[in-house]
Amino acid sequence: MSRSVLVTGGNRGIGLAIARAFAESGDKVAITYRSGEPPAGFLAVKCDITDTEQVEQAYKEIEEKQGPVEVLVANAGITRDQLLMRMSEEDFSTVLDTNLTGTFRVVKRANRAMLRARKGRIVLISSVVGLMGAPGQANYAASKAALVGFSRSLARELGSRNITVNVVAPGFVDTDMTRALSDEQRENIVKQVPLARYAQPEEVAASVRFLASDEAAYITGAVIPVDGGLGMGH
Ligand code: NDP
Repeated sequence: MSRSVLVTGGNRGIGLAIARAFAESGDKVAITYRSGEPPAGFLAVKCDITDTEQVEQAYKEIEEKQGPVEVLVANAGITRDQLLMRMSEEDFSTVLDTNLTGTFRVVKRANRAMLRARKGRIVLISSVVGLMGAPGQANYAASKAALVGFSRSLARELGSRNITVNVVAPGFVDTDMTRALSDEQRENIVKQVPLARYAQPEEVAASVRFLASDEAAYITGAVIPVDGGLGMGH
């Protein structure tokens, strides 16, 4: 069965791997992008998730071209790393506005059609950092931890309508986001990971696709770590 899927930030990194995984399964996949040339093979809609009006327009276009969103993957996210002493209020609020409020905007808009259809799958991309913390990432960790409370509230609110809401919490994944780290930082991270390597984006995508599958129909409010064992015990 071909479903209408939306992956925010599906133009690169983990989001692109997720979009490809759903497309491989035969789903219709829309991705958001903000600038440049989006990758081919998807319904690419221009959308900055910090702008409610752009989110509304994106959903209208998707509904028109591939039908109401049945599977939403809220993946778009940013970092603005800085030690607390030097972290500006803007560094903090921009990260929160993108990672948390941006997720709220896309989930709220998706919920409308899911309630009507009495089914839906929502997967939020959090991070091991949201559960463990990381120096220099107080803004990012706060935003990613908040997604857990957000998703669990929605899992309770929407469960009776056959809508599941789950979180995937990746560890360190080889993308532009982590390529921005210094070699020393990258080596230190690998030393702490039991599997002693970074994840490939496809390894995160596999868990997301599973949570949206029929096999995962009884899983909601879960936080699935895909972190090579880094966060074990949280
Ligand atoms: P990238 O930096 O490679 O990609 C980020 C994606 O988010 C891009 O598609 C980007 O779009 C999009 N995005 C950022 N801000 C906005 C916005 N305001 N509106 C719309 N789209 C936006 O990151 P990753 O692929 O590594 O990360 C994807 C998700 O996974 C993020 O939520 C991240 O926090 C999380 N994650 C990543 C980990 C890692 O190690 N890489 C580990 C744990 C979690 P554009 O191309 O337009 O900039």
